[in-house]
This record gives sequence, C-alpha cells and structure tokens, in this order.
Amino acid sequence: MALIVQKYGGTSVGTVERIQAVAEKISRFLKDGHQVVVVVSAMSGETNRLIGMATQIHDEPTPREMDVLVSTGEQVTIALLSMALHKLGIGARSFTGGQVPIRTDSAHMKARIEHIDEQSMRADLNAGRVVVVAGFQGIDPEGNITTLGRGGSDTTAVALAAALKADECQIYTDVDGVYTTDPRVVDSARRLDRITFEEMLEMASQGSKVLQIRSVEFAGKYNVPLRVLHSFQEGPGTLITVDEEVDMEKPVISGIAFTRDEAKLTLRGVPDTPGIAYKILGPVGEANIEIDMIVQNVGADGATDFTFTVHRNDMAKARKILEQVAADLGARDVLADDKIAKVALVGVGMRSHAGVASRMFQSLASEGVNIEMISTSEIKISVVIAEKYLELAVRALHSAFELDKPAS
Ligand code: ASP
Ligand code: MG
Repeated sequence: MALIVQKYGGTSVGTVERIQAVAEKISRFLKDGHQVVVVVSAMSGETNRLIGMATQIHDEPTPREMDVLVSTGEQVTIALLSMALHKLGIGARSFTGGQVPIRTDSAHMKARIEHIDEQSMRADLNAGRVVVVAGFQGIDPEGNITTLGRGGSDTTAVALAAALKADECQIYTDVDGVYTTDPRVVDSARRLDRITFEEMLEMASQGSKVLQIRSVEFAGKYNVPLRVLHSFQEGPGTLITVDEEVDMEKPVISGIAFTRDEAKLTLRGVPDTPGIAYKILGPVGEANIEIDMIVQNVGADGATDFTFTVHRNDMAKARKILEQVAADLGARDVLADDKIAKVALVGVGMRSHAGVASRMFQSLASEGVNIEMISTSEIKISVVIAEKYLELAVRALHSAFELDKPAS
C-alpha cells in the first residue's frame, strides 16, 4: 500500500464528464489498496475567465480581492470531484487551502507555502477517505486567502506530498510525460522514462512548460519523487527523481530545450575599465528587468562590446535604458535584436563526458547555423542563434546526440 498524491490539471477536470472520469481513475488506485490525496486545478479556462471579469471592473484590482476571486475556481472542482467520488460509493472530503490548512506568507498572488498541517488530512486518510484539496491556494497568518501564482497547483501537490511523506506525487496532464524535446518540432522526440530534478529544472526554465518550475524546485529540495503522466491514457509517464549513481551507459544528453522568448541587446564600443559591467547592468536590474546570458569581449582597440539577453517583452524598455547608458559612457551605439532563439542541451551525463560542446558546435556548423552567444553550466550548454534556424538546429542536435534512439 502506498500513499499517493495526484494532481489533475485544468483540462483533466474541464467538464463534468472528465471529472467523472477522474473519479473512476482514482477508484482504481483505491482498489489496488492505495491511499490517495487529490489536488485539482480550476476547470480549464476558468481562472482566465475570473481574471477577465475582475479587469472589466477595475484596472488594478487589489491582490487580496483577486485571490478571493481566483481561488473560487478550485473550490468548484474539489466539490464536484468529491461528489463524483461519492456517486461511486467512495468516501471523500474536499478541503480548501485554508481548511487543510496550507499556511503561506501574505504575498497575494505569489504566496509561498510556509507550513502544512497534515493532521486533518491524515485523519481522513486513516478513515479510508480520499482527501480532495484545492490547488493553488492557501491562507496567510491573518486568515486571508492567498494564491501561489499561475500554475500553482503543481506546487500544492508537491508540498502536500512532502508534508505527508507520500511515496509519489503524480501530476496528471494532457501530455504523457517529459520529452527529449518538443514533439511539435521534432517528430522523433521521445518520452523520457526518467529525468533528474536538476535536468527538469533546466528543461523547464528553458521553455519546456510541463510543470511549474517552483514545484520542481520544491520536489528536489524535499526529495519528492514526481511523475508526469497523461490523465486519460495508460502509460508509465516520466519519473523525475534524484540523480542516480554515475552510470557510464547513461546518455550524455537527456533533452533539448529551446525558447523564442528572448531578445539580445548589444552596447558597442564601451571603454574597457573597471565598473563597466555594473554601469551597464545596474540600471537594467533597477528597472526589474531580468538578464539571462551575458557576453563581454575586449576588442584589439581596448574598447569592448557588451551583449546580453532579456525577455522579449522587456526589450524596448531595456533598449531605452541602454541608450541613456551609452550616452553617459560615450559608447558607440546600441543594437537590439528580437529575432533570436536560445537552444540548450541538458544532461547530467555531461559531467562525466568531454567534448559535448564541440560536438554541438560541429553539428550546428554543418547545418550552416551561426552561433551568436554561448553559455555553459555543469549540466547545460546554451547557444543563441537566429530564430529562423531554430527548428533546423533542434532537429540537427536531436539526431547528432541520438536522442531519437531509446535509452539502453
Ligand atoms: N488555476 C490556476 C491557474 O490557472 C492554478 C493551476 O491551474 O495550477 O493558474
Ligand atoms: Mg498547469
């Protein structure tokens, strides 16, 4: 007998029929003798619908009232799912975040979980009931309803699994696992049987949007085995877990992540003196613009070019700031380019294998793809290329690193 936390996303509970199908699915786990805690999202589209109504009434609704509003989406699905379970003769009780209670800080719309009291859930489980918990919401020290940020139900599920020391946290969604890369780009992309927390974080932050990033961080921190599965298709899904022993048979690369969400800014001809990086990036940081890759190179004439990437939505703002900086520093000019894409190879196997970067660059070169920026970490190599080459590059790398072949 295992204790399993299952999370069903918005599309999995998007209609009454689907909610009934989820109840049937849960009943099979109970028949196998497991204890089940279920976390649900709002029905698909519901959170957006609620936000839409709020913004029709007020341009800047207070975060407190937004949380009161959007938390209702999940309150609907916990009640309906509990009823569907009752209809099957299964004991079940719904819990809002505050009823668990899931205690958070007071940062409305982006609250962090501070503590979960697992006593009342445990009592229900011991009485043979299914515990159905509203995802995405909690309660702050003053008793206000809080929410955890969009996609937060994944984090609720992982946090409950950690608090209950569950055997597994299963995230049911509309894909059957984590893939080597986006199957819409590469036909031969393969579902991974397992991936490490670290790799998943890199895949997620590089644009594979299967799970809320925070939930993966949380799972890694508390070592909660996390499995991504399809809601209505049978299959093993992908297990996200700790790094196993170093295994030389293991593929060097686990996956390829990519994003079109970035833009590149270059400040040309800045003097090569101490403090330059700070003078350039200080004002950008103060404007709350996140910086990703940075490249600085000193030319033969002693002047340097300084290039970095930001989210595409921040490009215009960053450019304006840089134009001011350029004037102050006497730099030559500012270039901005949003027709770029970032492609990253991810794999813990890189730690024990040399030559991954050169193989990557060779593969891109043979396709005539120019590399504009490079950055590396222990388990990742990212490059910035022109956006028009993105699909070509991802396909070339996917076959160069034999990701289409099943792991041995
Ligand atoms: N319903 C919330 C959202 O759409 C939380 C979730 O689905 O995880 O963001
Ligand atoms: Mg989601």
